[in-house]
Amino acid sequence: MTSPFRFQIEARDGRARRGRIFTPRGEIRTPAFMPVGTAATVKAMMPESVAATGADIILGNTYHLMLRPGAERIDRLGGLHRFMNWGKPILTDSGGFQVMSLAELRKLTEEGVRFSSHVDGSRHLLTPESSMEIQRQLGSDIVMAFDECTPYPADERTARQSMELSMRWALRSREAFGDRPGHALFGIQQGSVYPELRAESAEKLTAIGFEGYAIGGLAVGEGQDQMFGVLDYAPGMLPEDRPRYLMGVGKPDDIVGAVERGVDMFDCVLPTRSGRTGQAFTRRGPVNIKNARHAEDPRPLDPDCSCPCCAAYSRAYLHHVFKAGEIIASMLMTWHNLHYYQELMAGLRRAIGEGRLTAYAAAFHAQRAEEDIEPI
Ligand SMILES: [Zn+2]
Repeated sequence: MTSPFRFQIEARDGRARRGRIFTPRGEIRTPAFMPVGTAATVKAMMPESVAATGADIILGNTYHLMLRPGAERIDRLGGLHRFMNWGKPILTDSGGFQVMSLAELRKLTEEGVRFSSHVDGSRHLLTPESSMEIQRQLGSDIVMAFDECTPYPADERTARQSMELSMRWALRSREAFGDRPGHALFGIQQGSVYPELRAESAEKLTAIGFEGYAIGGLAVGEGQDQMFGVLDYAPGMLPEDRPRYLMGVGKPDDIVGAVERGVDMFDCVLPTRSGRTGQAFTRRGPVNIKNARHAEDPRPLDPDCSCPCCAAYSRAYLHHVFKAGEIIASMLMTWHNLHYYQELMAGLRRAIGEGRLTAYAAAFHAQRAEEDIEPI
């Protein structure tokens, strides 16, 4: 009998893999990009529109949802999928990262993190056990182990202490998660930029055993060169037959480079957040719609894009509605950006399947180097 949650690799090209994660709520084609649905919504998008861009899975933030509207309430209302009208898989983070970046009056101990809500000042305690319970109440399909995201930069001694704490929390997460067929628990590798620590973290996690593994502690300000430096060796330390998830990444060229280095899953707020701040991602690089050069430009953001924004709306219109503060500006730009990201992932998957990832990546970089079309 096959397990209700499993990962299958269908093609390889160099270190890159194309595959499929099977879950009771549907399949996730990898390499996959997960749009971020922080507060039970992918901002400015209807769930069916998110699905129409090609997303197989979205990410929910435990920290935000536990504070507002509360995980117990979501549980009583039938779980996060029903609550937000998204029937496909959902991955939730553990809350650890956002507690450390958003909450006030934080106190980190062996037990977990005590903090005050940034919403109403109420006091909370997040531990590996409570994080597992909250993610269960949300009904998450892929649950992340509770860990400490090691800040960057960190000297080796600090990075070791932080990694070792995360590994003790990983074991407690595994024990608290228990046996939940059809749901997966992912462990998170830490170790900052130190290969020995990354190796030790991978060994400890593998000994515990997880359905998938994340590479944590990157995309925290180290820059692309440092990140790729770690990705040259870190994915290879994790079990070959499980999905590998690079948390919080990233820009389109970060994703291409990480896929080439063996990463299968990504999430990032960039396409949605940029959609609301007037930045579009295109094959020829970023376009700032606020720029006056677009004010009378009747052309779409990207003539080769098949999204509803590019099919029917001009740069001039987008420029106008953005300047006027109209909600449709966020809706159209977010749709385009998510469509662009999913097209990129589909292109990467095709290229891996056809054994031409190197050529695909070269064409990707060459087209971006051309930069945006000449102004009218
Ligand atoms: Zn478009």
